[in-house]
Amino acid sequence: MGHIKGQDIGPTIFFFGGIHGNEKAGVIAIEKVFEQLESMTEALSGTAIGIQGNTSALLQNKRFLDADLNRLWTQKNIDSIKSKQESKLGIEEKELLGIHDLITSLLNTQSPPFYFIDLHTTSSKTLPFVTINDALINRNFAKLFPVPIILGIEEFLEGPLLSYMNEKGYVSLGFESGQHEAMSAVDNAIAFIWLTLANTGVLTKNNVPSLERHFEQLKNAAKDDNAFYEVEQRFALSEKDKFKMYPGFESFQKVRKGTVLGVNNDVKVKMSKTSQLFMPLYQKQGAEAFFLIREIPKWILKISEVLRKIKGDNLLVALPGVKWNGTGKGSLRVNLKIARFYAKSVFHLLGYRNRTIDSTHIIIQNRERNARNNMYSKEPWF
Ligand SMILES: [Zn+2]
Repeated sequence: MGHIKGQDIGPTIFFFGGIHGNEKAGVIAIEKVFEQLESMTEALSGTAIGIQGNTSALLQNKRFLDADLNRLWTQKNIDSIKSKQESKLGIEEKELLGIHDLITSLLNTQSPPFYFIDLHTTSSKTLPFVTINDALINRNFAKLFPVPIILGIEEFLEGPLLSYMNEKGYVSLGFESGQHEAMSAVDNAIAFIWLTLANTGVLTKNNVPSLERHFEQLKNAAKDDNAFYEVEQRFALSEKDKFKMYPGFESFQKVRKGTVLGVNNDVKVKMSKTSQLFMPLYQKQGAEAFFLIREIPKWILKISEVLRKIKGDNLLVALPGVKWNGTGKGSLRVNLKIARFYAKSVFHLLGYRNRTIDSTHIIIQNRERNARNNMYSKEPWF
């Protein structure tokens, strides 16, 4: 969508819009901001790149056509798509290859540090929020924005683009700017892009037009909530399920145990406990009906930061049933028979989140060991 290079060298930011084809707000926001940026190259230190995601699905205003483009980004899947004949590729598989080649070539030619920002909207009403894979570089960068931050969603989702970029060690944020068709979703996405340009130092704060207004826009839209949350449950849907959410529920809404949320295959779906609802589904396409989230206390965030900095996970392998997975550190193999009683939260504290299951064992990945801390260590937010 655009490639704007400043006069001076500096970070490179990738902005993605429309990875889901029914989410146009991000695309519009990138267009609007880039239009202004084009006349500001003298003030820019670094590069802003705008990438449109699912172009084919955008034309039909559908989330996707053959497959969800934000669930395809695992190394295994990418390798398998690359080895396919072109005539056998699905629409989103072609989209993925296009984006993958573009990112790869830009990473080789543009200057670091690199930032990946993926703009989305939701089918329900929501506060604007950020989603991140839980690495400290992501946390520290995400904290600069006056909106709530959701950790650990990748544990429940297979193959989002941002998890893939994060596994490569880069700062990667998802920003959900509001409800699909809401005007405020565009305004929030525009504000987020300007704040990103300022927070990365690609623009100095003085050079961002009405920076204060953009900050206030997000802060007000988020109702002053800039806490960290974690996903505790996901209500998954299979393709056969017929789910209908009752009207009126919103993301971040507190809902009491027993409240009926909707109907799945003629069976009522109730809240299993009092909790906070997250991303209730009000559209046909989607692999989850809703999530439940809970706020993470500040002291837990602090402890986990310290433990990660002193590489506390070296101690985990002293526990029965826990071993390094292979020779390289950063991935643990956990025997479920022995270790299932350890609170999942112990692993979470130390940065282990993603998991792949092989019958008796789980393999969990540490975000910290892949993080390219050296790439960001001189940035003001680090
Ligand atoms: Zn989306």
